[in-house]
Amino acid sequence: MSAERTPGTIWFVGAGPGDPDLITVKGRKLLEGAGAVLFAGSLVDKAATQFAPKTCEIRDSKDMTLDEMTDWLIAQARQHKTVVRLQTGDPGLYGALIEMTRPLTAAGIEWAVVPGVSSAMASMAAAGETLTLPEVTQTVILTRVAGRTPMPPGEELEALAAHKTTLCIYLSITLLHKVQEALLAAGWAEDSPILVVQKASWPGEEKIVRGTIKDIKRKCQDEKIASQAMIVASPTLGAADWPDLIRSKLYDPTFTHRFRKATEKPQ
Ligand code: SAH
Repeated sequence: MSAERTPGTIWFVGAGPGDPDLITVKGRKLLEGAGAVLFAGSLVDKAATQFAPKTCEIRDSKDMTLDEMTDWLIAQARQHKTVVRLQTGDPGLYGALIEMTRPLTAAGIEWAVVPGVSSAMASMAAAGETLTLPEVTQTVILTRVAGRTPMPPGEELEALAAHKTTLCIYLSITLLHKVQEALLAAGWAEDSPILVVQKASWPGEEKIVRGTIKDIKRKCQDEKIASQAMIVASPTLGAADWPDLIRSKLYDPTFTHRFRKATEKPQ
């Protein structure tokens, strides 16, 4: 009677942007029941592992190659019912997710993904800004500029910026000059507002820098921001202080929808 036990499941859990309270309830429950956790050391606040039980095997992946990570995860899944790969923000954004899951599938190991609060959302929340505004922009582009990873054709920032929507630019703080050049080339004015948030939501470490395309680089240098930062260019920035605002139709007293009848006539 030596039937091999069924391997456990590997959960790719979004830890959120840094504040351990921003993990989802589902992610936290999985950590609480985890036999092993592999976390992305450089970005996930170690505090997120505070939810794992004392007996849990916890490993930082910062010095591991992809093969070492998948080998470790597979070995743990053969011993534990619940194994967590804890990733910063949302696992599906710049998270090497598919590279990691393919060897698991090949080894016959079950895996699943739990989404997380991405740093773009956390950065806008930190600054009290909105990603969309009626009749200003209704579209958000999550992107980066080319570093060692090239951009696929048609996704150059200049081309994306031509839409004049909200741009959340990941992995690009050391390439801020490229962001400046691309926005100007796409026709954004030099004094368009830009937001940079470093370590959004990290308790006691978050930095918010507001500037324009022209001066944002100098301001970030003054604040010594060179990593773990989100760049946002958006026509919505600063809307909290605008004298005029087009209001959302959903809450407009002249607008009827499924849950509410108009209480006023349109002017
Ligand atoms: N999966 C992550 C992104 C990983 S790529 C997510 O969904 O957020 C790493 C990049 O994310 C960094 O270069 C930075 O641009 C951004 N980032 C991650 N955490 C951040 C934070 N707390 N504040 C600001 N930017 C952050």
